[in-house]
This record gives sequence, C-alpha cells and structure tokens, in this order.
Amino acid sequence: MIAVAASFRYPSPPFANMSVNPTAYDVRGYAHRPPPRWRWIFPVIGAVAVVVALVILVVHVRRRVKAEPKTPVAQVVVAPKPAPHVVSNAPPVFWRKLVCPTDRTNILDAPIAESFQDTGTGDPRSGMFGTLRTSESGLGQFHEGLDIKCLKRDRHGNPLDKVYAVAEGRVAYASRIGGNSNYGKYIVLLHPDRVGEIYTLYAHLSEIEPAVQPGAFVTAGETIALMGHTSSSPIPVERAHLHFEIGLVINTHFTEWYRGKRQTPDHGNWHGWNLLGVNPLDALRFAHDRGKMDFGEFLKTTPVAFTLAIRAAQLPDFFRRYSVLWQGAPFDGAAFVITVNENGTPLSGRNATHEEKLKLGKQVAAVLAANPDVIGRNGRRLVQQTKSGWKTGSNGMEWLEILLYPQRVR
Ligand SMILES: [Zn+2]
Repeated sequence: MIAVAASFRYPSPPFANMSVNPTAYDVRGYAHRPPPRWRWIFPVIGAVAVVVALVILVVHVRRRVKAEPKTPVAQVVVAPKPAPHVVSNAPPVFWRKLVCPTDRTNILDAPIAESFQDTGTGDPRSGMFGTLRTSESGLGQFHEGLDIKCLKRDRHGNPLDKVYAVAEGRVAYASRIGGNSNYGKYIVLLHPDRVGEIYTLYAHLSEIEPAVQPGAFVTAGETIALMGHTSSSPIPVERAHLHFEIGLVINTHFTEWYRGKRQTPDHGNWHGWNLLGVNPLDALRFAHDRGKMDFGEFLKTTPVAFTLAIRAAQLPDFFRRYSVLWQGAPFDGAAFVITVNENGTPLSGRNATHEEKLKLGKQVAAVLAANPDVIGRNGRRLVQQTKSGWKTGSNGMEWLEILLYPQRVR
C-alpha cells in the first residue's frame, strides 16, 4: 500500500510545464494544492488511516472472540426441559412386556417342587419369598426373593440356564466379584413405573454379559447373565439357582449411611440392605392375571404386616421418590404413619393424627397395629411382640435408620 501511495502522483496540472501567468493557473483550480514537495502526505495519511482502522477492527473482533468461549458450552449443553406431564392410561414402558427371568416359564402354574430350589432341607418352600427358613439358632430366617431352579446342565453339572431381564430398564449395578456378597455375582436393574423406579435383582450368577454396565439399557427378555452358584457363603453346584428379587429402593443416601458405619464391602446404594423386595411370585401373578402391570396397584394388594408411627422432621427420601405412595395432605414435619410389608417395604405413608402423635409421645417409633398372620415366623424381626404389646424389634432400629437417614434416629 505504501508502495502504491508512493507511486501515486497527482496528475500534472495542464500546462504545468508552461511557464505562464500563475494567476491563470489558480483559476484552473490548482491553487489550493500544497506545493508539489508535500503532495505525498495525503496518500500516506490515507494509508495510515486505513491501517489504523483495520488494526482497531482486528483488536475489537479478537476481544469479542476472547469474551465468548470457543465452545459456548452453556449455550450448547442446555438441560432438556422436563417433558410436560402427560396424563395417560397407557401402561409405562416397563410393563409393555414382562418375561420370566429364566427359561422356566411355568413358575406360576407348575408344582413348587419343580420350580424352586430348596436350601438343602428338601422343602421347596425354602426357595420362596418369606420366613420359610430356619437359621442355625432356630429362629425364622427371612428369604427376600425366589430361588428359581436350574433347568439345563452340562455334563459336569454346571448350570446352562440363561438369565433374562424381566422388563425394559437400565443397569444400576453389576457386581462381578462373587466373594463380595452373599448374592455372589449379581445385577441390579431399574425399571420405570408410575410409582417410581422399581428394581429387579439377579444373584448367584456365574457370568455377567460384558455389555451389562451401569447406565446401559436392556430390553425385556435380553440375556444379561448365566446362572451359577456364586456367593460369599458357598452354594453347592447341585443347588445352583437364580435368586430373583423385585421391589423398592429405600434410600438414595444409603451409601453415606453405610460408609459412616465403616462397613464393607461397598456396593453403593445397591447393597441388599437398601433394596427391599416384595413377593416376586405375587407380582408376576398380578401382572399375568390382569394382562398388564402397575406397581402401585400391585402394592395395594400386598398384605400389611404392621403399621408404624414415626417421629421425623423431614419427609424421608423414600416418599420423595415414591410420592404416589404418600396419601392425604403434605407432610406436616412432625410425625407420619407407614404401612409395611413383612420384609420392611413401606406400602403407604400419611401424616400421623393427633391421637397417633400422643401415642408416639417421645419415642422415635410406635407400632400402631401388627398382623401376626402376615408377620408369620417373623424372620425380619423389625417389630416384636412383648408382654406390653408390639414394639420395634432387634432389627427395627437399623431399618429405621436407613429409611430416615440423614435424620438421626438415636
Ligand atoms: Zn435366594
């Protein structure tokens, strides 16, 4: 540009080389021009102005670019707007299809000795849900799931049964170290339902499919594992079976509670203590008989083992997630009443009445009612009968701690 400017010349005035009268020269319009020796200044000033303008423009643009991050993350990754709540009578995706967890597809109809694996007692009921076992001390021992018998074995007696996801859902947890739990190698899936997320659990597996990783989606009937007999307390190969559970997640703060107790091994929120099952056979039968499933409706059919009044300042995490199970007015921040199945799974919740609060007094919990027929041999010992009536049992305080955490119980 400088070179161009330097080479620029005003055209020579006409007759400039003529030595004529300078006044006439002025009349032709050249009188305002500087003397020829300063003429170069104008193109130079023009060029400098252009350069300065360009520099200012570049600096301004660069400042703007710097001010905005190169990848405008906040603008691109926008949290999706929550979908508008659609009132629909259509079943949730979870229940579009429900399958048996192994190829034993007749567990609702077949004789129980054919379907369920006993604990070595010869009584197939010990492979079913409930207090149907006896511990070494002679007390009733609760079994939280179904032990579905092996159907096919190789010539060494190892089980060949595939294990299937019973419904659409996503993988919450896969524990691949057999000695880390009395579940052995196990998988926890979560399934959407109108009530909230329902878990299913598959235990004592020999192999877990590599794709079964937390967050992965599974379809109903998808092979997730191979049946086995893994456990921290040995199960002989001839009693290999699938331990299957279905139920509710008690507290999403369980991990903090568990770590606070310095307990091991750490399965996060997917430890068995935080997963409270219902009778899987009843749940599968409910879905089969009605041709569809609604877990909230199913829970209404679940027998109530006991009713408990609990003093608490906050609504437990459980009823925040499974809000459909809360009945009546919002929690009043003083005390609430829950109905519970024989395994400690809350079935409903509501504010305590004035009379119930009086009965509670300064206690953390008070048993308002108990059904001995449902509690049966009381393998869970959450409540126990004393001379003065039903009280929170030996396992009851720990169960309450988990349910109410982070509120302190004692
Ligand atoms: Zn079992």
